[in-house]
Amino acid sequence: MINLTEGQCGLCAHFGEAHPQEPQLVQIRTSRSAPEQYVDSCGHSDHKLDHLRVSAISGCDGFQPAT
Ligand code: SF4
Repeated sequence: MINLTEGQCGLCAHFGEAHPQEPQLVQIRTSRSAPEQYVDSCGHSDHKLDHLRVSAISGCDGFQPAT
């Protein structure tokens, strides 16, 4: 497991945006940590048409904190 900090995909509202209630995604957000290999889709409008998949430890300027 890797600890996540603000700005990383695992804590972004766009990470797994299509299925925000998925148990593993909820666990990542509440624990602020993720398995090293965990990847999910990015729902940001600039990325979703490309079906971008990112790791929980990735990040970009489109970060928006998940609630
Ligand atoms: S790539 Fe950017 S917008 Fe997409 S989930 Fe990661 S931080 Fe959020």
